Amino acid sequence: MGKPEYFNNHLITASPLLASPSADGRFGGTYIMKQLDTQLMHPVEQINIIIGRIYRSGMTTTSGGNISIRDDNGDIWITPSGVDKGNLTTKDIMCVKKNGTIIGPHRPSSEYPFHKAIYESRPDITAIIHAHPPALVAFSIARVVPDTKIVPQAHNIIGEVGFAPYGTPGSEDLGEKIADEFRNKNYKAVIMENHGVVLGGSDMMDAYQRFETLEFCCRTIINGQRLGEVNYLSDQQVSQYVNHIPGNVPHFMNIDYPSDERALRTEMVSIIRRACDQGLMISTYGTVSVRWKDDDFLITPRDVARWDIVPEDIVQIKSGMAETGKAPSRSVALHQRIYQLNPHINSIICTQPVNLMAHAVSGTKFDVRTIPESWIFLQDVPSIPFGLIYNEIEEVAKMFNDNPVILVENDSVFVTGDKLLNTFDYLEVAEFSANSLVMAQTIGPLKPIGDKEIEDLRIAFNVK
Ligand SMILES: [Zn+2]
Repeated sequence: MGKPEYFNNHLITASPLLASPSADGRFGGTYIMKQLDTQLMHPVEQINIIIGRIYRSGMTTTSGGNISIRDDNGDIWITPSGVDKGNLTTKDIMCVKKNGTIIGPHRPSSEYPFHKAIYESRPDITAIIHAHPPALVAFSIARVVPDTKIVPQAHNIIGEVGFAPYGTPGSEDLGEKIADEFRNKNYKAVIMENHGVVLGGSDMMDAYQRFETLEFCCRTIINGQRLGEVNYLSDQQVSQYVNHIPGNVPHFMNIDYPSDERALRTEMVSIIRRACDQGLMISTYGTVSVRWKDDDFLITPRDVARWDIVPEDIVQIKSGMAETGKAPSRSVALHQRIYQLNPHINSIICTQPVNLMAHAVSGTKFDVRTIPESWIFLQDVPSIPFGLIYNEIEEVAKMFNDNPVILVENDSVFVTGDKLLNTFDYLEVAEFSANSLVMAQTIGPLKPIGDKEIEDLRIAFNVK
């Protein structure tokens, strides 16, 4: 396990759009994802952090994959050839100067030619990630381009996905074929036939978020198809969600940060990092909130990369108003109503783990009568239709009185509980159970625990 990475010293205060409410104290409709600042962090540091994150997330092997950054001088910083991806340091990162001079202790990646070809064809791309993660490679070898409209935000982050024909690794020919896709179609994500994937970005975090979100989509589609038919969202449904930013969240000034409030921020950040480490959350999606006192609570911000959230990013919600200068997650109104209607609930996690989402995108019932632990913690988990969490807040908030966990079709899973650590545990139990159900599909359908045994569990474990 890697140590958590914190970037306090390298973070800037987001974009002016994120940080500045308009004159009436409300936020406008446009946000830019807060990212690591490329101006403040050297390319070798960014490459080192991202390759480590990719390796630990199981998205590259020790030998496979390479990433690069083009700096303002036109020099290309790139991972070395033949050095263990699990143990790279900043000193290992190579630089190919604009004039062709190579600086560093190794050879540049053997795939340098296609990185160079992409940069030459696309001035807007300054960072490239190439890897062979298993789910994307499944699409690459089946020669299928994934449809990313399985959840509303993914298509916006990834854009249209291209497909480049096969070429010999390291050859100029492969470089030309990939650069053609980037040049002709303006893609930022291209699947390479019988090879892997290549992602471009306006900076390294932009490329990384595209990569992580696309691999998440591919894993979800594959697992969803094991369970049944995958349902895709229409363009209209996607744009409804994208436009559904609560513009009317009022803000308050004069914020207090007492020590119990600060302790909750620290706890939330640690749980979010853990969720990312465990593959239960990705940069571009995941909401966590914790009741602070009465119906006031703390919630994750909108459009801040989940890996990089720090305590000061968390948004305090007091008397239905948000801490000034910050934009809360778009589901803030639902969280508020859940706390108001359910005094027993003190924390909520909403996220998109791949096996739970396989159920949510295929309309498959998530039957928790698998093992005693699952039923005791989760009880029966209902599914609700896409869009309901934005349009029927009252009805959905009431449902949590009887159901600690609710699956939202083509959207997410909501897990509620008392202490945040317990809620996180329920999330882990839910995703483990969903994973077992997906795996069981290939050996035989679930034979659920019987009604009598469930009644015995109800009594033995005092479940209401
Ligand atoms: Zn490769």
